[in-house]
Order: sequence, then structure tokens, then C-alpha cells
Amino acid sequence: MNQKGTYDVIVIGAGFAGLYSVHLLREHGFTVRALDRADGVGGTWYWNRYPGARCDVQSIEYSFSFNKEIQEEWEWTELMPAQPEIEAYLNFVADRLDLRRDIQLSTTVTSLSFDDAGSEWTVDTDGGDQFKARWVIAATGCLSEPLDPAIPGVDSFSGPTLYTSRFPREGFDFTGLKVGVIGTGSSAVQSIPIIAEQAEHLNVFQRSAAYSRPADNRPLRPGELEEVKADYESLRLRQRAAYAGLVSFGAVSFEGVTPPTRRILETPVEERLAALEELGWSAPGAWADVMFDLEANQAGTELYAELVRRQIRDPEVAEALIPHYPMGCKRQILDTGYFETFNRDNVTLVDLRSDPLVGITSGSVRTQNREFDIDVLVLATGFDAMTGALNKMEITGPGGRTLKDVWEEQGPVSYLGLAVAGFPNLFTITGPGSPSVLTNMVVSIEQHVEWIVDCLDHMRDSGYQRIDAEPGAQEAWVDHAAGLVAGTVRNSDACNSWYLGANVPGKRRIHMPYVGGLPAYRKKCDQVAADSYEGFALA
Ligand code: NAP
Repeated sequence: MNQKGTYDVIVIGAGFAGLYSVHLLREHGFTVRALDRADGVGGTWYWNRYPGARCDVQSIEYSFSFNKEIQEEWEWTELMPAQPEIEAYLNFVADRLDLRRDIQLSTTVTSLSFDDAGSEWTVDTDGGDQFKARWVIAATGCLSEPLDPAIPGVDSFSGPTLYTSRFPREGFDFTGLKVGVIGTGSSAVQSIPIIAEQAEHLNVFQRSAAYSRPADNRPLRPGELEEVKADYESLRLRQRAAYAGLVSFGAVSFEGVTPPTRRILETPVEERLAALEELGWSAPGAWADVMFDLEANQAGTELYAELVRRQIRDPEVAEALIPHYPMGCKRQILDTGYFETFNRDNVTLVDLRSDPLVGITSGSVRTQNREFDIDVLVLATGFDAMTGALNKMEITGPGGRTLKDVWEEQGPVSYLGLAVAGFPNLFTITGPGSPSVLTNMVVSIEQHVEWIVDCLDHMRDSGYQRIDAEPGAQEAWVDHAAGLVAGTVRNSDACNSWYLGANVPGKRRIHMPYVGGLPAYRKKCDQVAADSYEGFALA
């Protein structure tokens, strides 16, 4: 074990959250070391380099607002940035702010244990390095722990097995190969059209059809970025005031759009269908009742089904591409040429609902009724979201209990998504119970980092060494968050999303992201701080 010194703060992760944490902590005079298992900065945008990986939030919004120079200097090229551009941006930020000297890469944190007497964390890593720190900030990301699917025989496949979430850095050429993609979530939907263009044949193994719509991405027009830069502050203010920390999703602007008042169940069918002509892909969700009533939701899904049918030549394939679960339960996906891909002669959709997956052999994927020869396997099977990366580290609080034990027993509880009772001086950025993945992550990350650094300032100025969420405050927050999502489609029995942890066998079913919106959440965090960190015990 190599003793690597004592810092005020250890930050785990060097993605958006880790980079900003290092910067702001340094600005406030704290000593800090960031550790990341990757050999480059970027977090999510380091790992998820599969073909077609792209953000569905506009580049001008999916970027840091805290530094005017960076905002001014960086030149986005597309409406929605692709992975290489975001990774390059984060490297630019790291260089521009000289962050690398306080970041240790290729270092996986294996355990954190809290010393009760000294009120400090001991941080151990896979390389045998040990650090001590008063505070730890887990900037470990919401979707960073890939889920290894328990598919029989997956390890026996003799060709390359590529995870979208750990795609080879040098890329992969699918030309002339028979490819099998398992999964049809966001990562698969983005990569499938590109793989299809290269592969000799592509088999897409679909368990649940995706709710997707065209992203309508495009290069930024000459002068467009300059126009935003001329009054960036106005955009930033509007973002912060918006429910999800953004004023547009994909190419669709929310500004000036009033929430729908018309109820689908009170609208004659021919008028519902007429909405398709008027609103296109926005029509299925443009009703006041679809997110709150399963029957209304089903009517919205009928409209979506009609849009899918219009894209697909083979009626059987079209029916298989229509989701069987409520709209809005899982993440809305934005795609580029996804549905058109299923009209190609070299693409087969394998509907695992009618023909379940049996297993994988050394050269094929087997379903109950068929066997598909493949040369390459692509697993786009998702993540143990929000808690996975934290559970992977053994985090032991002062009483000897691990965070994993607490979450296994109580579900992913947290006070404000910022801290868990019993784990003092440990902050989680965009943790369960915060708006996180339902928002523009960059806006949520900035809010969390700034709140945490303010809190550390307060502790230092007041001579406090320890902060811990109070169990009662945590329980009240968990109840409040659960109350908001209760009765909505998101939480219905028909919904099995990763938001609910439903994709991980044995995970407690709790809707992890906070649905109350970023402005209300920010107000609550600010009020907690103003009231001397109400709900936290300071010592
Ligand atoms: P995901 O949404 O969890 O999708 C995983 C897919 O794999 C699902 O279709 C799932 O089917 C399937 N699957 C898992 N295990 C399987 C098995 N054993 N057999 C057959 N199918 C299996 O994961 P993801 O696509 O990586 O996306 C995760 C999240 O990352 C997204 O929701 C989004 O928040 C984020 N993301 C964002 C972007 C973007 O900004 N554009 C891009 C990529 C990812 P079931 O649905 O039936 O479980």
C-alpha cells in the first residue's frame, strides 16, 4: 500500500462533475485529488464511444456555464454534439483550467472507510494507493456501471464481444461481418443505423421496443453559435428556470409552449389522428392526461404506433417495433434513421417477446425457434443506474455498515440525492433522489457542485468537521419524492424502467430520479443551506 497523502477532498470521477468539482474546490482554497478509472478525462463521454454516440441535448445547452472564457472560446459544430466532440470539449476544459495536475487517471477506487475518531475518509485504490480526506465527493455518474446481462453462454462467444458502454477506443469496423446487437435502448438505437450501413448482415435482438423519434440533428448554421454567445447569459437563466434545466429537447424548443390542456380520452378518434398531421412525432404526448392515466396513455401509444407504421414497409416488423409498455415510462429516445434501418435488406429484427432469447453459443445467438450465425456480438444492455457505481466501491460508514447494505435493505434512499444518512462527509453528485437524469445533466451537476462547495466553505468557516444527513430528514425527502411520482405512469406496475431499478434483478423498486423539477429542487437545496443546513447534523 502506498500512502499518497491527505487532501481536504477526494473527488471520484473526472467527467463533467469531477472536473467542475476539482476546479471549484481549488478556487475555494481546498486541496483536492480526483481519481478516475479511465486513462482519460470525460466520464460517460470517455466510455460510451460506440458508433453514433451523441447527446440528445443541444450543444449550446449541454455545456458548462460557470466559465465565460470557455463558453466563448469553444466552438460547437452541431446542434446535438457527438461523443468525440464532447470528449474533446472536456479535454479542452481540463487543459484550459489546468485541472490535470490534480487528477490521477487509471485509478479505480475500491473502498472508502470512515474513521470515526478522526472524522476522515480512507480511500483505497486498485493500484494499492491510499489517500485520506476529510470529505469525499462521488462524481461517479448515473450511468457508469455497465450491466453484464445474464445471458446463458455469453462468455462462450468466440468472436469479439463489444459493449456499447466500453467500446474500443480505436473503434470497430463491421464491414463484411454478421453482427448481432442485443438491446434496443438509447445506445442501441443510436448505433444500429451505423452498424447496419457497414455490416454484411445485422440481427437486432429486441426485448422491448423503443419509444424513439427523429432527432433532426444538423450542423450549426453560420452565425448561429455567435448569436447565442452574444447573449449566453439569457439562455443560461432560462435553462435554470426550466423544469428540466433545458429549453429544448433535441431540435424541439419548449419555449413559448404551454402545457397541453386537451385530454386524449375526451377527444374523438378522428381528431386524435388529425393531430398526427399537425404535430407529427409530438402528437402522442401532446395531451394533458397521457402521463397520468394508463388508458389515456394507451390512446397516446396508438398514435405513436401509427407513426411507426408509416415508417416501416413490412407490417409484421412495424407491429414488432411498437412498444407494449406505457409511453413516458422509459427515457424518450432521439434517433437518426432508426426506423428506416428496418427497411434494409441486410437487417433482421428479432422480436424476443414472440421468440425468446435462449442463449449464445461460440458463433451464434439462439432463440427458442431460430439460430442466428454471427461474427460479432454488440451488447447494448444498459447500466446498473444511479447506485451501481457507488455500490461497486465498498463504502463503510462509522458504524461499520456499508452503503450497499443500507441500500439493499431500504432501497436507494438519500437526503436530496446529495448525501446518505450514516455516511458523513460523503457527497453524491446527482445521486438518487435528485432530478439528475430527468434533467440536463450539466445544469444539475453545476447546481450540486456549487451547493457542496458552499457547504464545505460553511463548515470550514464555522469550524465543523463533520456533516451527516439526519435519518428523519432523509425519510421525509424520500417520502416527498415518492409522493410526487405516485399515481403517474412512470411508477405504474406496467412500467419496468431503469429509473425504477427494474432492469437489475433484486434491486429495490424505487423511482430514483426526483420528478419535482429542477427549479423547485434548487429552491429546496437553497432553503436547506440558508436554514443552517436543515436536515443535516453538523459537528
Ligand atoms: P437501456 O436503456 O437500459 O437499454 C438496454 C437495452 O438492453 C434494453 O432494450 C433492454 O431491454 C435490453 N436488454 C438488457 N438485458 C437484456 C437481455 N438479457 N436480453 C435482451 N435484451 C436485454 O441502456 P442504454 O441504451 O445504454 O441507455 C441507458 C441510458 O443512457 C438511456 O436511457 C439514457 O438516459 C442514456 N443514454 C443517453 C444517450 C443520449 O443522450 N442520446 C445515449 C445513450 C444512452 P428491456 O428494455 O426489455 O430491459
